[in-house]
This record gives sequence, C-alpha cells and structure tokens, in this order.
Amino acid sequence: MQFNSHYNTLSPKLYHHQQPLPLKGAKAGHFNIALAKQLNWSDEDIQAWVEICSGQKTFAEFEPLAMVYAGHQFGQWAGQLGDGRGLLIAQILDKNHQTIDLHLKGAGSTPYSRMGDGRAVLRSTIREYLAGHALNSLGVVSSNAVGFTSSDQGVQREKLERGAMMLRTSDCHIRLGHFEWINQYQGDLLTEFTQKCIEWHYPKCLEAEQPILAFATQVIQNTAVMIAKWQLVGFAHGVMNTDNLNITGSTLDFGPYGFMERFRPNWINNHSDHHGRYTYQQQPSIGHWNLWNWLNNLVPLCPAEFDKEQWKDALATCLEHYEPTFLEHYKMGLNQKMGLPSFHKDSFDCAMAFLRILQSEQLDYTQSFIRLQNKEYETIKDDCLDRRAFESFLSLYDSIRKHQDTAELDAEMQKANPHYILRNHMAQKAIELAEANDFSEVDRLFQLLSQPFKKQPDLEQPQDLGPLPSDVPEVMVSCSS
Ligand code: AMP
Ligand code: MG
Repeated sequence: MQFNSHYNTLSPKLYHHQQPLPLKGAKAGHFNIALAKQLNWSDEDIQAWVEICSGQKTFAEFEPLAMVYAGHQFGQWAGQLGDGRGLLIAQILDKNHQTIDLHLKGAGSTPYSRMGDGRAVLRSTIREYLAGHALNSLGVVSSNAVGFTSSDQGVQREKLERGAMMLRTSDCHIRLGHFEWINQYQGDLLTEFTQKCIEWHYPKCLEAEQPILAFATQVIQNTAVMIAKWQLVGFAHGVMNTDNLNITGSTLDFGPYGFMERFRPNWINNHSDHHGRYTYQQQPSIGHWNLWNWLNNLVPLCPAEFDKEQWKDALATCLEHYEPTFLEHYKMGLNQKMGLPSFHKDSFDCAMAFLRILQSEQLDYTQSFIRLQNKEYETIKDDCLDRRAFESFLSLYDSIRKHQDTAELDAEMQKANPHYILRNHMAQKAIELAEANDFSEVDRLFQLLSQPFKKQPDLEQPQDLGPLPSDVPEVMVSCSS
C-alpha cells in the first residue's frame, strides 16, 4: 500500500486516536480482490485480508482515528454525532493516484458512540457490502468495501445477531455534518478545514477568483449528479441525513436503502422513516434541503471584499446550480434508458408517459426498461390493465424513433439499463445463508452484480429478475444495523 495520510494533519479536536477492538473469532466473509489490487495491496496485504478486515492488523504508517461530526437527522438538528463504530485506519493511493480512505466499520465503541455498542451485525454488513459493489458496477459513485469478516459472537439488536466487521473504501469521509459540527462547536477551525477540503478534494477551485464559492458550487453539482443517478437506477438511500452525505458527492452510509422494484415513487423502503421523508421521489428535494442547510455553515467565511449580505447572496447563487444540474443529468439518463434522442422536443414527455404506465400498472422498474430495450412491447402490454394508455405511449415512442438512427439509440440503451439490481429479497436470502455460515450466495450476487448490464444466464436465478409476488410480505428494513 502506498500511504497518503492527510486527515491526521488536522487539529486533534476533530478526531480521536484509538486502535480497533478486534472482532473475536473473526472468519472470512467475502473479499473483493479486484478492489484490493486497484488499491495497490501487496501480496502480503492480500494474504492478511482477514486480519486487516477484523481489526487485528493495523498499519504503522497511520494511527487509526474516529472522526467527529454532527448532523440533521430526519430534518432535526441532532447535535454531535461522529464515528461511533468506525475508524479511519489508512489513507492510501490507488492505481489512478487517487487517495482512498480505508474505514473499518464495527471496530468498537469510540467517544462518539453515544448509546451504541460500536458494533455492526452481519445482516447490515452484507447489505452495505453488496450495495456499494452494485452501485459502483452500475456507474454510480459510491463507497465500496475490500472485504468483511464475521463472527459467532452475538450482537444485540431487536434480537441477538451475528457480529461482523467491514473495511469500507471511499474517496472521502468528510460529511456535510463535519461543517455543522465545526460551525457549532469549534468555529475557529472552519477556515483551515475548508481550505484543506478544497486542497484535498477540489484543488482546481484554488485557481478560482473565489475558491470557497467554486468549492460550494462543485459540491452542489456533484451531489445533484449523484442523486440523478440514484433516480435513474431506482435507488432509494433511505437515510439522507446530513451526516450521511459527503462533500465529494459519492454515496455513503447504507442502512435501510432499497432498489425500487415495482415503480412506486412514494415507496417507503426504510420502515423507521414514519413520515416518508426519504422516499425515492423526495430524494432530489431533500438533497437541495441538505445543501441549503450546509451552505449556512459557510456564511462565517465571508471574505473581506464582501459584506455579509452580499456573501449570503453569493452562497445562495451557488445553490441555483442544483436543479439545472440534476435535471440535465436525469433527463439525459432517462432518454438514454428509453432509447430516445435527447434533442427531440417530445422525448422527455414520452419517457414520462412510460413512467406513468409503470406507476399505475405497478410494473417492475428495471425489468420494464429491459423489455422496452428488447422490444417486447406485447409482453409489457399484456401486463397492463389500461392497454390503451400503453398503445398511445407506443405510438408516440415509435413516431419519435422513426427518423432516428435506432441502432445507435439501442446501443445506448444497453449501457444504461441493468438486467440486475440488488433486490431486498436477494440480499435477504444471501444474509440468511451467511448467518448459517454459507457465503456462497453472497459470492453469487457479488459476481452477478459485477456486470449488471450483461445478461448472465449461467449465474442468474428466476428471483433475480423481478419482484416477489405481491401477496408475499416485503422484506422489512429499518435503521437497526
Ligand atoms: P447511521 O444511522 O448509521 O448513519 O448512524 C448515525 C450515527 O450513529 C453515527 O454517528 C454512527 O456512528 C452512530 N451509530 C450507529 N450505530 C452505532 C453503533 N452500533 N454503535 C455506535 N454508534 C453507532
Ligand atoms: Mg451515518
């Protein structure tokens, strides 16, 4: 590994050094060897992956640390939070010379654990491990994981569950909530912290006339792009609190997330989200709310040449980039999924007509796009109660495509429509087997989700291709992890 440590150069008020508490009786769960190689792990590191992913082996080059941050949870100020069960154990360079954080999750309690036990259970570890892998393979920027270990040692949640530890990777663990903590509790660190965030993550912004405004705009645009991609693959994060969004706009902190199956934009995947704050359809506006809230923390950084009101206006102007960026990426991606030309004036309306059919007929989001791609129009129509609505959509669809280079549009569709997403029941089956010490289903899903855009008849199983029948109860997922 090639170390490129920088977080530990910040004020020690921002973290607490401590060693992980190793997972007792740790056994191999799953290892992402391709990622380890991408991260320049030596053969020796690869050999020792179980020790590294269970907190038994740390590195002399970096003293592990828990970060402090704060956050708004479900729209309410939650005060100080922080890494309550995770430790940054290294910052290393990958093969592209990008700095990647290694963060061990489930590594024991820290001064920021509040009421928590510092542990992670096998169930949520497998969900996070497979989701990060699935999103990365789908082209959605996300944290990932090198591997996880599990243990027979019990961890108490609603019931006693098996414990686990996972080595998460991300280009950044600096959350919007880091700024909230500093602004609230240690304002004297704000200038230097912001400067370092720009140097480490947005160095080009240093060349701008107003680096802070350039930085804010970039954070806003990256977040808008990330959420547009979530919407396109049908991903609902489930807990879009400000402590779970980072400043690079890569997906972080999976708990009660879900990939939508039947197209229900107001579907609540997270059963702890009683008011439906974080439904799929709310995600774009919640992203805006989180960023607006975050920008308030940059108000004290007013440069000498601005008066306070001008500075607030300038920050507010940065947020005006959010909606057009989101819409540009969402519309472009949706047209690509539909096989429609972006320049045609009716393409977006046509895509919306298709989504309305999926919604009213409760059709599977992922499979319906694959059927459209395969031109299985009769199959879709057969699933519709309102066949007229489908026929009218199809005539508009055909009329737009008639004078286009459809071979090119079809090729674009194949890059945008996955055959496989991580359905909750798929993850659940892998978890149930893993809890009985059988990790073969985790491995099968890992392989299947490595190439979601490629049909893999030898690896797929019928339950990978659609939702469970509507009379089978849904897998319940909650914040418990
Ligand atoms: P999350 O909902 O996973 O984003 O976590 C919110 C906050 O609770 C973060 O500060 C976590 O570190 C902390 N937390 C969650 N679970 C635990 C746990 N089992 N032990 C200690 N802290 C936890
Ligand atoms: Mg979190």
